[in-house]
Amino acid sequence: MRLGKPVERSDDVPKRIRNEAEIVLGQRKLFQRFLPGLVHAAIFWGFLVLFPTILIAMIGAVDKDATLPWLGHQGWFALMVDVFAVLVLCGVIAAFVIRKVQRPARFEGSHLGEADLILALIAGIVTTLLLWHASRIALGMNEWPASWSPVSDELSGLFADNGTTEVLERVFVWAHVLIILTFLAYLPHSKHLHIATAAINVYFGRTGPGGRIEPLRFDVPEEEMRFGAGTVPDLTWKQMFDTFSCTECGRCQDVCPAFATGKELSPKLLIMALRDQVFEEGPALVRSAEGFEPQPLVPNAVTDNVVWDCVTCGACVRECPVSIEHVDHIIDLRRHLVMMDARFPSESEQMLRDVERASNPWGKPQTERADWAEELGVRVLEPGDPAPEVLYWVGCAASFDERARTAAQSTAKLLKAAGVDFAILGPRESCTGDPARRMGNEYLFQAHAEQNVATLNDAGVTKIVASCPHCFNTLGNEYSDFGGRYEVVHHSELLAELVRDGRLATSAGEQPITYHDSCYLARHNDVIADPREIVEAVGKPVEMERSGKRTFCCGAGGAHMWMEERAGLINEKRAAEAAATGAETLAVACPFCTVMLDDGVRANGDELRVADVSTLLAERLPPEATGTT
Ligand code: SF4
Ligand code: SF4
Repeated sequence: MRLGKPVERSDDVPKRIRNEAEIVLGQRKLFQRFLPGLVHAAIFWGFLVLFPTILIAMIGAVDKDATLPWLGHQGWFALMVDVFAVLVLCGVIAAFVIRKVQRPARFEGSHLGEADLILALIAGIVTTLLLWHASRIALGMNEWPASWSPVSDELSGLFADNGTTEVLERVFVWAHVLIILTFLAYLPHSKHLHIATAAINVYFGRTGPGGRIEPLRFDVPEEEMRFGAGTVPDLTWKQMFDTFSCTECGRCQDVCPAFATGKELSPKLLIMALRDQVFEEGPALVRSAEGFEPQPLVPNAVTDNVVWDCVTCGACVRECPVSIEHVDHIIDLRRHLVMMDARFPSESEQMLRDVERASNPWGKPQTERADWAEELGVRVLEPGDPAPEVLYWVGCAASFDERARTAAQSTAKLLKAAGVDFAILGPRESCTGDPARRMGNEYLFQAHAEQNVATLNDAGVTKIVASCPHCFNTLGNEYSDFGGRYEVVHHSELLAELVRDGRLATSAGEQPITYHDSCYLARHNDVIADPREIVEAVGKPVEMERSGKRTFCCGAGGAHMWMEERAGLINEKRAAEAAATGAETLAVACPFCTVMLDDGVRANGDELRVADVSTLLAERLPPEATGTT
């Protein structure tokens, strides 16, 4: 880890301590799946409580008449040991049943034999502990009142007060100690290394917004510059620690839309493959072995397809119980491929060229950017104009894509109807750089970020409303790294507020509407309630099974809007989930989701209208309110 590149993780100590309490001690993320969470919690909490018994057993193994001062004599502690030993045993049995009978698909590719051995060792540890205590009670050697340890007391009935039990008492305590030592010796060589690393990894996990990507620094001396991750020494220390912490639980794989649609990418196997390479090359790197050349991570650890399959939806990161940051790994692998090897899917080359040349991924002239607003009387902010109360950041999709434009027009009508003082930048707005950044082209992203920040700052903008969750995320979470600090809201948040304040009077409809959460809105930025408020204001909401922070991607994130999709299609899968609710309308709050899910619905042949929440809201306003006839 000392070889790892630096990354700042010493800030925000209170949040880190809170994460430690919630995620490690409280097992919050594991409880997202109740039964396996309960099984893990029983074993984990049991081990915390039983920890002093290791010391007690070691003392007892050396001297059968000695124990830990004070604690070894406490009845309450003996009771806790009995209760938790039984809980751990139940947890181990349940874990075996899950693994051997239920066999969830998420374990596919994990080291199952290792897990079985570890579970057997844990069962051995608690069984020998109970039998040791029982034999001591039978011999009258218990330092604690026997009535406080009901299970051991009951088991003591199996033993007589004789020489055989005296021998068995020694056998049990030594077996107990030796299994623990075997367990500890085996630990670093197995996936259960996470017992030692997980709590530390959680502490050093990201505390900021999930959608933010750590910028690369191009203003440092060349030897300190980093261009993503090409080989093991390019990884940051946190990325290395991530690989040591993976428990191979497969929770990330289970929620990954790429894996679910038959792509090569499995976030679990990605982390395991990186770990294998770190372990394989680590010793030689640490020794600075003469002539040792680390192998490229791509295609040595993972293939190019694995790197490009990701839609940066963040479902894996959210699910991971040990705070592994898969998206950061993938973006760093992409950065190296793009910036150092000029290696990326050929179909996205045009998009990168268009962002660079035309300032938008559609390659359209910037002069056409405000065409959608022509008949709506929207103010276009010219240099030197007074700043509006709120700047409407339209985004490239809503500016140039026919289907997405409707949402921009609806939003503008609604803002006007509510009397909001707003303006757009028109041709001076350029791509935020999000698709270039998610593709790994950090140069291109930073060039656009700096240009946009200069425009916004010159215009005196303080508050922005963004239609596109990707723009919303970049403007709100990433531009502050380049000197752009604004209050950024999503149009669904602002519109919901206007409805709440009575500035937009709506009439509720009867149509069943299901709302699809965009990953960059719900998961990365916690915007969940506001779009639903709009849906409730205009129709009858019906929830999909995967919603809110556990939403399923539309398939466009991570610059996939401009990539060919291999294997099954994510948008069709999601569109089918929406159709299964029986809703007539699929509400969205993202231009990419609009296009992707509309395509998905058409491909599936379903009768489902896809519309932005702003459009649904505008339709429920009286015509005179929006100035339409
Ligand atoms: S970010 Fe989404 S697509 Fe990428 S690995 Fe994670 S779950 Fe899979
Ligand atoms: S990365 Fe996290 S969620 Fe995925 S298998 Fe490893 S520990 Fe489990």
